[in-house]
Amino acid sequence: IRLVIHGGAGTIDRARLSAEREAEYTAALAIALAAGHAVLERGGSSVDAVIAAITVMEDSPLFNAGRGAVFNHEGRNEHDASIMDGATRGAGAVAAVGVIRNPIRAAEAVMRHSPHVMLTGAGAEAFAREQGLEIVDPAWFRTEERWRQLQKAIAAQRIVRDHDALPESAYRDDDKRGTVGAVALDRHGNLAAGTSTGGLTNKRYGRIGDSPVIGAGTWADNRSVAVSATGTGEMFIRSAASHTVAELVRLAGKTPADAADATLAEVAAIGGDGGLIVLDASGEYAMRFNTSGMYRGTVGEDGAGWIGIFGGPERRISLPVAP
Ligand code: ASP
Repeated sequence: IRLVIHGGAGTIDRARLSAEREAEYTAALAIALAAGHAVLERGGSSVDAVIAAITVMEDSPLFNAGRGAVFNHEGRNEHDASIMDGATRGAGAVAAVGVIRNPIRAAEAVMRHSPHVMLTGAGAEAFAREQGLEIVDPAWFRTEERWRQLQKAIAAQRIVRDHDALPESAYRDDDKRGTVGAVALDRHGNLAAGTSTGGLTNKRYGRIGDSPVIGAGTWADNRSVAVSATGTGEMFIRSAASHTVAELVRLAGKTPADAADATLAEVAAIGGDGGLIVLDASGEYAMRFNTSGMYRGTVGEDGAGWIGIFGGPERRISLPVAP
């Protein structure tokens, strides 16, 4: 069994992250690892482990997913999420949803209980209601920090309004990325992957990134690997990033780490950056990024947690008892 998680990649360095914040992120990642590990340990499925880990991060205000998601231009949170089952290549996704407490559960419901792969907006919300998922007031997702980030982004946008197209840097919140994702391998040898995000601060026009796009932000196939991505979504879509990683493993025989690096190079070649977590059916995994940091962690059979935020090796930590 193995679980690998990320909480977003970006400009994350020691100079910007206080020791307290670092401890908060480490604790949140540890709870997510513990929740997913508990599922795998008792023989649960990789899909359920991915959901358990992502739900913890969605409910944490620290990450840009669920509670604590970034705001769009209109001052609303619009969530995107997806999940894929490597045993069947079943997949589900929701995009631009605003009232579903845990978007990853809505993605799961689409996979399990609809003939479709992707539902958006009001339709996805109606489906989630029918499925009995928890619906919340949009205020549930709001944090003051994210609100301030929107005001800053709006101010920056005014400066660049003369241009036809805003440069990416004008509206992305570079040091506060925090898309979340998980990949898992269960006792039955099945892989699964999931990703959840609030997208980009100050996004407009119903913009949807890579996170809910199967093959871009998320991919799982027992014959190759499970993958979750974070980064400049447009470039991850244009690189079919998660699927590219999988096919480099399956068809080109690359290791998870080499396949991730080769894919990040493809993303970089068109001006993007970010990170990838990758896990194969033998338990070999990689947590790769071409940004200064990525919130990340993993746990295997022995129950020891490994967590990293900046570049360099992950640190061993003991996991809390799962709730
Ligand atoms: N990939 C996400 C998106 O484009 C953002 C991120 O990972 O920071 O919506």
